[in-house]
Amino acid sequence: MPRCPVCDAAVDLATTPTVPFCSDRCRLIDLGRWLDESYAVPEKKRPVDEDEAESD
Ligand SMILES: [Zn+2]
Repeated sequence: MPRCPVCDAAVDLATTPTVPFCSDRCRLIDLGRWLDESYAVPEKKRPVDEDEAESD
C-alpha cells in the first residue's frame, strides 16, 4: 500500500479519492509547500540611496 508523501499514512488506492495523498488536507499541504518553494526568493534587494550629493 502506498504512503501519503505528507504524513506517511497508508493510502488505500481503492477508497481514497485524493491519491497519492491520504486526504484533501494533505494534498493542500503539499501544494502549499510547492508554492512556498517557488515563492521563496533568498535575494532581497534594497533600494540604495546613491543620492548623497556633497553640498558645500
Ligand atoms: Zn496524509
